[in-house]
Amino acid sequence: MSVSKVYHFGPRGRISDVIKGQRLFEVAGLNECFDKGDSVAIKIHCGEWDNTGYLRPSIVAGIVETVKEYGGDPFVCDTTTCYLRSRGTGRDELLTAARNGFTPQTLGCSFVVADGPYGLNEVKAPLENGNFLKHAYLAEAIANADSLIVLSHFKGHGEGVYGAALKNVGIGCSSKQGKSNVHLFQHPIFGVPAYEFHPEKCVGEECPIYKRCGENCPTGSFTLSTEKPYPRWDRSTCIGCYECGLRGACEVVVQPEADTRRRYFPAAISDAAKAYVDYMGRDRVGFINYAIDITPTCDCVPYSDMHILPNLGVFASKDIIAIDMACLDASVQMQAVPGSRPYDEELEGEPWKAGNEKFTNIMRIPVSQWSSVNAALKLGLGSADYELIEATPGPRERYGQPKYREHHPSYFTRKPFSVNKPRFEPECYLEDIKVTLEELSGRPNAKVTRSG
Ligand code: SF4
Ligand code: SF4
Repeated sequence: MSVSKVYHFGPRGRISDVIKGQRLFEVAGLNECFDKGDSVAIKIHCGEWDNTGYLRPSIVAGIVETVKEYGGDPFVCDTTTCYLRSRGTGRDELLTAARNGFTPQTLGCSFVVADGPYGLNEVKAPLENGNFLKHAYLAEAIANADSLIVLSHFKGHGEGVYGAALKNVGIGCSSKQGKSNVHLFQHPIFGVPAYEFHPEKCVGEECPIYKRCGENCPTGSFTLSTEKPYPRWDRSTCIGCYECGLRGACEVVVQPEADTRRRYFPAAISDAAKAYVDYMGRDRVGFINYAIDITPTCDCVPYSDMHILPNLGVFASKDIIAIDMACLDASVQMQAVPGSRPYDEELEGEPWKAGNEKFTNIMRIPVSQWSSVNAALKLGLGSADYELIEATPGPRERYGQPKYREHHPSYFTRKPFSVNKPRFEPECYLEDIKVTLEELSGRPNAKVTRSG
């Protein structure tokens, strides 16, 4: 197997993650993924409502600037989710993206919901020799772009085990239908047919979402009556669209205890990733992973929890497997942040220790953090062998101020300062300093009480 190049900037140093991404874009040759004038989709995860772990808009804006510098015509995009939270429809996703800071003003280009207002705009991407799928559904706006740059936040994921480039492509670039397929909701063996139905657990009109629950099934497979047993579920017509969340919150429709679907899901991600990378063209897709603010769960939950690892830096590659391998390897080598999820007492395998797998061991059901990577290798999507190349900063004068500004800011203040002179004002100071350095040192003698 060939050895792929992965370029890396460590987490330390007086160089921002915005610049690291820009510099890595250049040294990894991601500009070679498009020609001048090409439409370039920049795929991000814009974060769930109230989540704060997603990549900062300025990081994305930096890549937008770099794509433009190389002559590309960028747009930033995300897709609707297959469940109905704050990104379930295009109009909700635009609001969530704006609340999280992703707007044309902050990005310097348009923000697009790539699978349209209802997540139904898609292109069927063929797949040969997949592990689970015969084809996948790529969000239309991405499919119609000339190139794809994938910016991923490396972190844990409740079902994918970890989230980075493979998941950002395999799930993140899918339409709703594509996401449902990859989640294996419609799989004839361990999808909907295997789910358990407990109508007796429904509390009927006492449920705060009774009305909504009874009305939101697009196929009429799930209905509610006013008499016990309230719910009726015809699984023969249920399309596993997950618009109802399969009643996960109330245990009326639940996944079986030994959930094969969830255990295979990380591997199914790689099927779709293969279909989409091949659809776009291998030389038309580039990846940057930001292993910063590494949370135990994905940016698709409405919280972030404490970071489980110190920042590991920024990675870039043209190989989707090698870049995720490099991040996972770095996470294994590092000790977890004390007090974070890997230290929770109920967990087995001491996941907090350097040398142990962090993500495998914080999952609620046993799934290997290498599942997606192993499945992608089986599909020939890239190489697990990689050369990790430490990048160096570029010319310093390029950085630290907007590139559109030719002059130092003092150039623009020289005229108003000469007319409206700021005063040199020694008389604003007291003659004696009233506080000593000793008084300023040490913790104040404060009493603290705790309750609750
Ligand atoms: S099925 Fe669940 S969510 Fe729906 S009304 Fe009954 S208790 Fe509420
Ligand atoms: S998953 Fe099935 S029951 Fe739920 S909304 Fe979709 S079709 Fe209806």
